[in-house]
Amino acid sequence: MSVNFSTDEDFARQLDSEDPLCHFREKFYLPLRKDGEPLIYFAGNSLGLMPRSARELVDEELDNWAKLGVDAHLATRTPWYTYHEAVRKPTARLVGGKPLEVICMNSLTVNLHLMMATFYRPTQSRFKILMEEPAFPSDTYAIKTQIVHHGLNPRDALILARPGKNDFTVRPEDIIDLIDKHADQLAVVMFAGVNFFTGQSFDIEKITSAARKRDIVVGFDLAHAIGNVPLSLHDWNVDFAVWCSYKYLNSGPGAVAGAFVHERHAANTKLPRLAGWFGNDPNTRFRLHLEPEFVPVASADGWQISNPPILSMAPLRASLAVFDEAGGMEPLHAKSIRLTSYLEFLLTEIGSKKFTVITPRESNARGCQLSILAHEHPKELLREVETAGVKCDFREPNVIRVAPTPLYNTFHEVWRFGRILAQHQ
Ligand SMILES: *Cc1c(COP(=O)(O)O)cnc(C)c1O
Repeated sequence: MSVNFSTDEDFARQLDSEDPLCHFREKFYLPLRKDGEPLIYFAGNSLGLMPRSARELVDEELDNWAKLGVDAHLATRTPWYTYHEAVRKPTARLVGGKPLEVICMNSLTVNLHLMMATFYRPTQSRFKILMEEPAFPSDTYAIKTQIVHHGLNPRDALILARPGKNDFTVRPEDIIDLIDKHADQLAVVMFAGVNFFTGQSFDIEKITSAARKRDIVVGFDLAHAIGNVPLSLHDWNVDFAVWCSYKYLNSGPGAVAGAFVHERHAANTKLPRLAGWFGNDPNTRFRLHLEPEFVPVASADGWQISNPPILSMAPLRASLAVFDEAGGMEPLHAKSIRLTSYLEFLLTEIGSKKFTVITPRESNARGCQLSILAHEHPKELLREVETAGVKCDFREPNVIRVAPTPLYNTFHEVWRFGRILAQHQ
């Protein structure tokens, strides 16, 4: 890939002029520097930028509330009562699921707990959970407290797939080896799609197949994968997945998250779960106290608990429409591979001994993020980069994460970022 790249500024400009998705940048509000120029926003892995269309959709629902009050549940263009239906199909397209397999609800960690309530049913012999290290702390807390909730000890029940010696990422063969080694005792394999810290993406299909062969339930946290890499959850046979929508999905702070439940489970109304009225058959839902028996919807909707937060679902609708307009993950991922490979090429050309990219080099083993480990004075480097007008983020003790995204970043921004780092010699 990198053989055709060049360090010339004109080359970056040329890549932008050839980019069929370049006009999508105009659909977003770009945060500005003090001098009024846009920041180089490489923090879409933390909070994606606001689609301009979000404001109109939020305003529409505020107006509906003002004008109609309770009647807006049923009487508007997109009735509140079925508002989650409006985001179902575009979400299913992004995760490669059937519409009945996805539901947008709650936030990520809450959804992880809800999925575990159904799928982590430890027995005397099968009670272990395999996850990767380092995992996002919220996932670690959720999984550990799930284990404790069942009266078990994480020291016995939690298996961690760790990076190899002198390595930063987990070797794919080590994951499969751990599944095989603990096969008889593993209840759940719970992995990230893309690791938040290293940017490493995991082979979801392979992990799923290895686990399911041994009758182990497999779930994925797609916080850093959705809207970043192509997904085919249904075909890959994943049991369940959860994600948030405020990172690469650009749906706003604390946006409504999502969950995937494979068809073979989604339609099974006998599965145990933590329930609420919006998971109940809509035909009897409003008989309220007359229907004390919970009858789950025979789809992922059966895990929905409460009525949806309309004001935070409106930006999700706006954002998903942008993904559809761009043609979905295929063209976006094609650009993303070019953008991140170009960034990697520039960092390699700089050849500094002061930092190392710890993200895998193969484009099928990562998403758009590169994690740069600074060997000396990492906070100083971060300060320099930020002073030069770059928004990126820092993970203790010494990793700067940069995530050029195909919807609103340009090749010229990547080139400028390379120049800023080159000056730090
Ligand atoms: C961002 C992120 C979270 C955040 O969880 P919330 O419940 O949305 O606050 C959790 N897990 C992973 C892996 C993340 O990347």
